[in-house]
Formats: sequence, structure tokens, C-alpha cells
Amino acid sequence: MSLSQGRSYLAIPGPSVMPDRVLSAMHRAAPNIYEGELHRVTASLMPDLRTLAGTRAHVAMYITNGHGSWEAAVSNVFSPGDRALVLSTGRFALGWAKSARARGVETEILDFGNRATIDIARLAEALQADKAHAIKAVAMVQTDTSTSVRNDVQAVRAALDAEGHPALLLVDCICSMGCDRFEMDAWGVDVVVSASQKGLMTPPGLGFVWFSDKAAEAQKSAACVTDYWDWAPRAAPEEYWQYWCGTAPTHHVYGLRAALDMILEEGLSHVWDRHATLARAYWAAFEAWGAEGPVELNIADPALRSHAVTAVRIGSPHGTALRDWVRENCGVTLGIGLGMAPMGDPAWHGFFRVGHMGHLNAHMVLGTIGAIEAGLTALKLPHGKGGLDAAAAVISGA
Ligand SMILES: *Cc1c(COP(=O)(O)O)cnc(C)c1O
Repeated sequence: MSLSQGRSYLAIPGPSVMPDRVLSAMHRAAPNIYEGELHRVTASLMPDLRTLAGTRAHVAMYITNGHGSWEAAVSNVFSPGDRALVLSTGRFALGWAKSARARGVETEILDFGNRATIDIARLAEALQADKAHAIKAVAMVQTDTSTSVRNDVQAVRAALDAEGHPALLLVDCICSMGCDRFEMDAWGVDVVVSASQKGLMTPPGLGFVWFSDKAAEAQKSAACVTDYWDWAPRAAPEEYWQYWCGTAPTHHVYGLRAALDMILEEGLSHVWDRHATLARAYWAAFEAWGAEGPVELNIADPALRSHAVTAVRIGSPHGTALRDWVRENCGVTLGIGLGMAPMGDPAWHGFFRVGHMGHLNAHMVLGTIGAIEAGLTALKLPHGKGGLDAAAAVISGA
């Protein structure tokens, strides 16, 4: 007998759960794109997007996803033949590298593997070796969604400063924006990218690029920039169409407005705290189950774990078996493992991820943990006792 009727829950790391308030805001007739309310609502997004990223600098919006946001940032920063340094802690940093190489940027990757954060000593060495300051930008992710590591942006900034290196600092916050604390100006970040479908609780389709004055200056000589990706008119449009370089993503504008209202009404630091506590509930459950048997958190050090996503190792084929079981029997869909083993390789089935970003509360987390515990039991996978108890203890102590 399946117990999966009722409202299903997509607990993958994006797209995340869309709040009813966001969906209702989008459920309307097409607005006029030439004048009126849409123009006012669009303009109102800009200061709130700046607040979200902790910046007084600039923000540009795009009709795109995360991949487009990378391309937007790269196009505005580089000229062909420039050099970039990418700090890889999983599959997502490689998106920076792929996009940069496709624009003719000479891109060096420092690879820190799938279970660790950035080794600052190795970064310092690479910066010292660049005596001529040829590296134009250093690119990283705050949270790598494949490994669920959360990197220390301030430590990378400090390394650049310690070496007196003038490179721009580019940070992918697609997974972490609105989930983990991020302060663009205080942390000295030059370019930030994000997208609508994760912590920002809005359907996929909007990309964002925030950029500092230093990056704006550098952009003036960046030869990769195209008409469509050019961030300058989008960030300071003289006419409405320039926000989008064409027709506005009308319904997304209303959806994002509702999502930002929800975040700001709750308070950004409360939103971060909520994500931290709900993440700790997941970790407590996984650690209890992991006391016996194959369940293991991919990132051992809690200080390096994302508050938006958790990657779990469980051995093949148990990852796929467990995902199938909880979806078919409990109506919860967990995320596939990503970047840990090649697709098609039997090892690929040994991982899964849980997204815990955005529109999320304690009962969704406890329900998912209960479903996973039931799955471990049903599949006769050895596991430590008390996962759900451990999670409930975190929630009750919050
Ligand atoms: C989801 C994600 C991306 C890719 O976004 P798409 O919308 O799928 O293109 C890039 N980086 C990070 C950190 C992500 O979490």
C-alpha cells in the first residue's frame, strides 16, 4: 500500500517549493509592459535585491537560469585571452570554468575535491606565483550544491588582500542566496550571481548579477560583453525595456515581488537562522543513522556544511533505492547525487541529496526525516537508532 497521496513534496536542491503566495501573485492576466504597475513593481525589486545580497552597489536582472547568470557575469568581466582562477569544491565551480573557457578566457582550476573546502594555502601559492597580476578574477561558489560544502568567502577575500592581488572576486550564490549569510560589500565581493529557483522561492527563469564599482569599471574594457548580457543598461535603465533587453518576464516579476516580501517580512537574519536550525535537524538525523551502517554525511565538519542542501553517501544502490522508496511510499522526492560518480557508473546510485532551501518549516523537515527513517527500515539498511528523535531535539531546543 502506498501512503503517498496528499500534497507531495519536492525536496530536491532546486527548484524549491514555491509558496502559495508566490503562485497566487503570478496567477493573473498579462500586464501591460509599456506602462503602469509592472514598471513600479519591477523598480521596487532592485533595492530589495541589493538588501538581499548585502550591497549598496549594482544589480542586473536577466531572463535566464544559473547557467545564464554565469555567462552574464563572465561576459561582463573578461576579454578573450584574460586569465581566470577557479576554486573548485565540486561540480558547480566548474560551471564558472566552462563558461569562461567558452569565451576564450585562460582558466586555471584549483581542485579541492568533493569533500573539502578551499585550501587557502594553495590559493595563496597560486596568487604568489602570479607576480605579474595576470589573473583578472578568482571565481568560487559559496555553497557547492553537489557536495553541499559551504566555502568561506571572507577567507578567500583575505587571501587576495594578504597577497595584495588585485583580481576581482566572483562568487556563485545560486544555492546559498537567501539561505546562508552573505554580505557582498562587507566581505569585499566584486561579482555575485544567483537565480530565482532556490532560496528565492520563485520558478526558474530569473538570473541576477550583482557587481561592485570596481567590477563596473573593469567592465568598460571587457570585450566579451554582448548586447544581451551587458549589465550596465539593466542596472540603470533609462527606459523600461532595458531592464530585460526586451519583453519583461511579466509573471516572474510578480512572483519574485511576493517572494522578496516574504523574506523581508520574516527578516533576512531570521531567514538565515531558520535555515541553520532546520539544517542542523537534518544533520542530527543523519549522524544518528550513521552511527551504524552505510549512511554518511559528505561533509564531515559541521562548520563547512551548507544550510541549503545536504549531500549524503549511502553506498550503491541504496541511494537510488531509498529515493524511490520515499517517493513512492511517502510522497517526498529527494535529490539525486551529483558529481560524485559518473552517470551510468554503478557507484552513481550510492548518493542522494536533500534540498532544504526557501519555503521550509519544521514539519516539512521532520516529515522528510521520518520518511527517510521509514525507508531505511523498510529497505533493511543498517542504521543507527534515533534519527528522528535527534532531529526533534534540535527543533524543540530552537
Ligand atoms: C543550481 C545551481 C547552478 C545552476 O543553475 P541552473 O539554473 O541549473 O543553471 C549553479 N550553481 C549553483 C551553486 C547551483 O546551486
